Amino acid sequence: MNRTIAIISGKGGVGKTIVTANLSAALMQFKKNVIALDADIKMSGLGLQLGMYYFPVTLSDVLMQKANIFEAVYIHPSGLRIIPASLCAQDVRVSRLKDILNDQFLDGNIVLVDSPPGLEKNTLSILKACKELLIVTIPEIPAIADVMKTIVAAKKAGAKPIGIIVNRYKRSEKNQISVKEIESACNVPVIGIIPEDKTIQKSIFKRVPAVFLDQYSASTIEFKKIAANLIEEKYLPPKFLSFKRFFRGLKK
Ligand code: ADP
Ligand code: MG
Repeated sequence: MNRTIAIISGKGGVGKTIVTANLSAALMQFKKNVIALDADIKMSGLGLQLGMYYFPVTLSDVLMQKANIFEAVYIHPSGLRIIPASLCAQDVRVSRLKDILNDQFLDGNIVLVDSPPGLEKNTLSILKACKELLIVTIPEIPAIADVMKTIVAAKKAGAKPIGIIVNRYKRSEKNQISVKEIESACNVPVIGIIPEDKTIQKSIFKRVPAVFLDQYSASTIEFKKIAANLIEEKYLPPKFLSFKRFFRGLKK
Protein backbone atom coordinates (compact mmCIF):
# COMPACT_ATOMS: atom_id res chain seq x y z
CA MET A 1 0.00 0.00 0.00
CA ASN A 2 1.15 3.52 -0.69
CA ARG A 3 -0.19 6.95 0.18
CA THR A 4 -0.89 9.23 -2.78
CA ILE A 5 -1.35 12.93 -2.15
CA ALA A 6 -2.10 15.34 -5.00
CA ILE A 7 -0.75 18.87 -4.58
CA ILE A 8 -3.24 20.99 -6.45
CA SER A 9 -4.31 24.63 -6.62
CA GLY A 10 -6.74 25.91 -9.19
CA LYS A 11 -4.79 29.12 -9.78
CA GLY A 12 -1.30 28.86 -11.30
CA GLY A 13 1.96 30.09 -9.80
CA VAL A 14 0.82 29.86 -6.18
CA GLY A 15 3.52 27.44 -5.03
CA LYS A 16 2.47 23.84 -5.80
CA THR A 17 5.92 22.81 -6.97
CA ILE A 18 7.63 24.53 -4.03
CA VAL A 19 5.24 22.72 -1.66
CA THR A 20 5.79 19.35 -3.40
CA ALA A 21 9.59 19.61 -3.13
CA ASN A 22 9.68 20.94 0.42
CA LEU A 23 6.99 18.74 1.88
CA SER A 24 8.77 15.73 0.37
CA ALA A 25 12.01 16.92 1.96
CA ALA A 26 10.30 17.46 5.32
CA LEU A 27 8.72 13.97 5.22
CA MET A 28 12.16 12.52 4.42
CA GLN A 29 13.51 14.18 7.55
CA PHE A 30 10.84 12.25 9.47
CA LYS A 31 12.41 9.10 7.96
CA LYS A 32 9.50 8.42 5.59
CA ASN A 33 9.94 6.89 2.14
CA VAL A 34 8.86 9.66 -0.17
CA ILE A 35 8.71 10.14 -3.93
CA ALA A 36 7.88 13.51 -5.50
CA LEU A 37 6.17 12.96 -8.85
CA ASP A 38 5.78 15.72 -11.43
CA ALA A 39 2.42 15.28 -13.14
CA ASP A 40 2.47 18.80 -14.61
CA ILE A 41 3.24 17.29 -18.00
CA LYS A 42 3.00 20.49 -20.02
CA MET A 43 4.83 22.91 -17.69
CA SER A 44 7.04 20.61 -15.64
CA GLY A 45 9.11 22.44 -13.06
CA LEU A 46 10.01 20.05 -10.25
CA GLY A 47 13.29 18.83 -11.76
CA LEU A 48 14.26 22.36 -12.77
CA GLN A 49 13.68 23.70 -9.25
CA LEU A 50 16.06 21.02 -8.00
CA GLY A 51 18.69 21.66 -10.64
CA MET A 52 18.03 18.34 -12.40
CA TYR A 53 17.86 18.62 -16.17
CA TYR A 54 18.81 15.28 -17.74
CA PHE A 55 16.07 12.68 -17.76
CA PRO A 56 16.40 9.89 -20.37
CA VAL A 57 13.11 8.40 -19.06
CA THR A 58 10.22 10.48 -17.69
CA LEU A 59 6.66 10.05 -16.45
CA SER A 60 5.48 10.58 -20.04
CA ASP A 61 7.34 7.43 -21.16
CA VAL A 62 5.68 5.50 -18.34
CA LEU A 63 2.26 6.91 -19.25
CA MET A 64 2.84 5.90 -22.90
CA GLN A 65 3.88 2.41 -21.71
CA LYS A 66 7.38 2.83 -23.14
CA ALA A 67 9.05 2.36 -19.74
CA ASN A 68 8.44 1.06 -16.24
CA ILE A 69 7.95 3.39 -13.29
CA PHE A 70 11.23 2.36 -11.60
CA GLU A 71 13.15 3.48 -14.71
CA ALA A 72 11.83 7.03 -14.23
CA VAL A 73 13.09 7.55 -10.68
CA TYR A 74 16.01 9.99 -10.16
CA ILE A 75 17.83 10.83 -6.94
CA HIS A 76 18.68 14.42 -6.05
CA PRO A 77 22.06 14.85 -4.25
CA SER A 78 20.03 15.42 -1.04
CA GLY A 79 18.61 11.90 -1.37
CA LEU A 80 15.17 13.12 -2.46
CA ARG A 81 13.66 10.81 -5.09
CA ILE A 82 11.71 12.34 -7.94
CA ILE A 83 9.79 11.08 -10.96
CA PRO A 84 10.07 13.96 -13.44
CA ALA A 85 7.90 15.02 -16.34
CA SER A 86 9.61 15.71 -19.64
CA LEU A 87 11.15 19.17 -19.95
CA CYS A 88 9.62 19.46 -23.46
CA ALA A 89 5.95 20.44 -23.41
CA GLN A 90 4.31 17.14 -24.30
CA ASP A 91 0.67 16.47 -25.02
CA VAL A 92 0.40 13.25 -23.06
CA ARG A 93 -2.80 12.22 -21.30
CA VAL A 94 -2.47 11.41 -17.61
CA SER A 95 -5.46 9.04 -17.61
CA ARG A 96 -3.21 6.03 -16.82
CA LEU A 97 -1.80 7.69 -13.68
CA LYS A 98 -4.07 5.70 -11.37
CA ASP A 99 -2.64 2.39 -12.65
CA ILE A 100 0.90 3.76 -12.35
CA LEU A 101 0.35 4.87 -8.76
CA ASN A 102 -0.92 1.37 -7.95
CA ASP A 103 2.36 -0.19 -9.14
CA GLN A 104 3.90 -2.45 -6.48
CA PHE A 105 7.18 -0.56 -6.88
CA LEU A 106 5.61 2.36 -5.00
CA ASP A 107 4.41 0.25 -2.05
CA GLY A 108 5.38 1.71 1.31
CA ASN A 109 5.94 5.18 -0.13
CA ILE A 110 4.22 8.50 0.28
CA VAL A 111 3.88 9.83 -3.28
CA LEU A 112 3.37 13.58 -3.57
CA VAL A 113 1.93 14.43 -6.98
CA ASP A 114 2.71 17.92 -8.29
CA SER A 115 -0.16 19.02 -10.55
CA PRO A 116 -0.93 21.52 -13.29
CA PRO A 117 -3.14 24.52 -12.50
CA GLY A 118 -6.79 24.70 -13.57
CA LEU A 119 -9.30 21.92 -14.02
CA GLU A 120 -8.32 20.57 -17.42
CA LYS A 121 -8.51 16.85 -18.25
CA ASN A 122 -5.11 15.96 -16.82
CA THR A 123 -5.93 17.61 -13.50
CA LEU A 124 -9.17 15.62 -13.30
CA SER A 125 -7.21 12.40 -13.97
CA ILE A 126 -4.86 13.33 -11.10
CA LEU A 127 -7.87 13.92 -8.81
CA LYS A 128 -9.17 10.46 -9.74
CA ALA A 129 -5.77 8.83 -9.25
CA CYS A 130 -4.91 10.25 -5.80
CA LYS A 131 -6.66 9.29 -2.60
CA GLU A 132 -5.82 12.49 -0.78
CA LEU A 133 -5.59 16.07 -1.80
CA LEU A 134 -3.69 19.10 -0.49
CA ILE A 135 -4.76 22.43 -1.91
CA VAL A 136 -2.23 25.24 -2.18
CA THR A 137 -3.37 28.85 -2.37
CA ILE A 138 -2.24 32.38 -1.80
CA PRO A 139 -4.36 34.58 0.49
CA GLU A 140 -6.18 36.43 -2.32
CA ILE A 141 -9.87 36.25 -3.23
CA PRO A 142 -9.47 35.09 -6.89
CA ALA A 143 -7.20 32.25 -5.76
CA ILE A 144 -9.65 31.20 -3.03
CA ALA A 145 -12.50 31.22 -5.59
CA ASP A 146 -10.42 28.76 -7.65
CA VAL A 147 -9.84 26.62 -4.55
CA MET A 148 -13.60 26.39 -4.04
CA LYS A 149 -14.12 25.21 -7.64
CA THR A 150 -11.28 22.71 -7.23
CA ILE A 151 -12.85 21.27 -4.07
CA VAL A 152 -16.17 20.70 -5.86
CA ALA A 153 -14.37 18.95 -8.76
CA ALA A 154 -12.25 16.91 -6.33
CA LYS A 155 -15.25 15.63 -4.41
CA LYS A 156 -16.94 14.63 -7.68
CA ALA A 157 -13.78 12.73 -8.67
CA GLY A 158 -13.71 10.92 -5.32
CA ALA A 159 -10.56 12.58 -3.92
CA LYS A 160 -10.54 13.69 -0.29
CA PRO A 161 -9.35 17.25 0.37
CA ILE A 162 -7.35 16.84 3.59
CA GLY A 163 -6.25 20.43 3.95
CA ILE A 164 -5.42 23.81 2.51
CA ILE A 165 -1.90 25.26 2.58
CA VAL A 166 -1.83 29.05 2.49
CA ASN A 167 1.41 30.09 0.80
CA ARG A 168 3.20 33.45 0.59
CA TYR A 169 1.44 34.73 3.70
CA LYS A 170 2.72 38.13 4.85
CA ARG A 171 2.27 38.69 8.57
CA SER A 172 2.20 42.47 8.42
CA GLU A 173 -0.03 42.66 5.32
CA LYS A 174 -3.59 43.68 6.21
CA ASN A 175 -4.94 43.41 2.66
CA GLN A 176 -5.13 39.64 2.54
CA ILE A 177 -7.93 37.21 3.24
CA SER A 178 -7.71 35.65 6.72
CA VAL A 179 -7.31 31.97 7.51
CA LYS A 180 -10.73 31.95 9.21
CA GLU A 181 -12.37 33.36 6.08
CA ILE A 182 -10.61 30.78 3.89
CA GLU A 183 -11.77 27.93 6.12
CA SER A 184 -15.37 29.10 6.24
CA ALA A 185 -15.51 29.71 2.47
CA CYS A 186 -13.98 26.35 1.56
CA ASN A 187 -15.12 24.17 4.45
CA VAL A 188 -11.70 22.50 4.53
CA PRO A 189 -9.16 23.12 7.34
CA VAL A 190 -6.05 25.21 6.74
CA ILE A 191 -3.25 22.87 7.82
CA GLY A 192 -0.31 25.14 7.11
CA ILE A 193 0.63 28.76 6.55
CA ILE A 194 3.89 29.21 4.62
CA PRO A 195 5.21 32.75 4.89
CA GLU A 196 6.67 34.78 2.07
CA ASP A 197 10.30 33.78 2.58
CA LYS A 198 13.50 34.75 0.79
CA THR A 199 14.91 31.31 1.60
CA ILE A 200 12.55 29.95 -1.09
CA GLN A 201 14.22 32.02 -3.84
CA LYS A 202 17.64 31.16 -2.42
CA SER A 203 16.72 27.46 -2.44
CA ILE A 204 15.73 27.61 -6.12
CA PHE A 205 19.02 29.37 -6.91
CA LYS A 206 20.95 26.76 -4.90
CA ARG A 207 18.90 23.93 -6.48
CA VAL A 208 18.00 22.34 -3.15
CA PRO A 209 14.71 22.37 -1.17
CA ALA A 210 14.59 25.14 1.47
CA VAL A 211 13.96 22.46 4.10
CA PHE A 212 17.43 21.01 3.46
CA LEU A 213 19.05 24.41 2.98
CA ASP A 214 18.05 26.11 6.24
CA GLN A 215 16.41 24.29 9.16
CA TYR A 216 15.78 27.60 10.94
CA SER A 217 13.94 29.40 8.13
CA ALA A 218 10.29 30.28 8.77
CA SER A 219 9.15 28.29 5.72
CA THR A 220 11.14 25.19 6.74
CA ILE A 221 9.53 25.21 10.17
CA GLU A 222 6.06 25.43 8.60
CA PHE A 223 6.80 22.63 6.10
CA LYS A 224 7.96 20.43 8.95
CA LYS A 225 4.81 21.21 10.95
CA ILE A 226 2.64 20.21 7.98
CA ALA A 227 4.66 17.02 7.42
CA ALA A 228 4.36 16.09 11.10
CA ASN A 229 0.61 16.71 10.95
CA LEU A 230 0.26 14.46 7.85
CA ILE A 231 1.99 11.53 9.51
CA GLU A 232 0.63 12.26 13.00
CA GLU A 233 4.03 12.79 14.58
CA LYS A 234 5.21 15.49 16.98
CA TYR A 235 7.53 18.22 15.80
CA LEU A 236 9.42 20.62 18.02
CA PRO A 237 10.75 23.60 16.03
CA PRO A 238 14.54 24.01 16.36
CA LYS A 239 14.19 27.37 18.15
CA PHE A 240 12.76 25.67 21.23
CA LEU A 241 15.34 22.92 21.07
CA SER A 242 18.16 25.41 21.06
CA PHE A 243 16.62 27.25 24.04
CA LYS A 244 16.43 23.97 25.91
CA ARG A 245 20.05 23.25 25.13
CA PHE A 246 20.98 26.79 26.16
CA PHE A 247 19.38 26.42 29.62
CA ARG A 248 20.78 22.92 30.04
CA GLY A 249 24.18 24.42 29.34
CA LEU A 250 23.65 27.11 32.01
CA LYS A 251 22.72 24.52 34.66
CA LYS A 252 25.95 22.55 34.12
P1 ADP B 1 3.24 26.59 -9.11
O1 ADP B 1 3.87 25.25 -9.12
O2 ADP B 1 1.95 26.62 -8.34
O3 ADP B 1 3.07 27.14 -10.49
P2 ADP B 1 5.75 27.41 -7.98
O4 ADP B 1 5.88 26.42 -6.86
O5 ADP B 1 6.55 27.14 -9.20
O6 ADP B 1 4.21 27.60 -8.35
O7 ADP B 1 6.08 28.83 -7.38
C1 ADP B 1 6.17 29.98 -8.23
C2 ADP B 1 7.21 30.91 -7.68
O8 ADP B 1 6.72 31.57 -6.54
C3 ADP B 1 8.51 30.25 -7.24
O9 ADP B 1 9.40 30.10 -8.30
C4 ADP B 1 9.03 31.16 -6.17
O10 ADP B 1 9.84 32.17 -6.77
C5 ADP B 1 7.78 31.84 -5.64
N1 ADP B 1 7.36 31.35 -4.29
C6 ADP B 1 6.53 30.33 -4.03
N2 ADP B 1 6.33 30.20 -2.71
C7 ADP B 1 7.06 31.19 -2.10
C8 ADP B 1 7.26 31.60 -0.73
N3 ADP B 1 6.66 30.96 0.29
N4 ADP B 1 8.06 32.66 -0.51
C9 ADP B 1 8.64 33.31 -1.52
N5 ADP B 1 8.50 32.98 -2.82
C10 ADP B 1 7.71 31.93 -3.13
MG1 MG C 1 4.40 24.00 -10.70
